[in-house]
Amino acid sequence: MASRDPNQRRVMIRCPVTGRAVPTGLTADPATWAARPIGLNRVSCPECKQVHAWSKKDALLEGSAHS
Ligand SMILES: [Zn+2]
Repeated sequence: MASRDPNQRRVMIRCPVTGRAVPTGLTADPATWAARPIGLNRVSCPECKQVHAWSKKDALLEGSAHS
């Protein structure tokens, strides 16, 4: 990945402990995210230092929603 695609957004989940959005380490293009299959993943959470299991229903693209 030499070049940065500006359409690539960080895939975030919400930490169930702190309620903060945390990056999963994945990136996705919003145009293809909806159709992209994502299995069960794990992320080492920088907010609470625990490991969270997450699947696509838990994930959102950075900048796509604010709550
Ligand atoms: Zn957490």
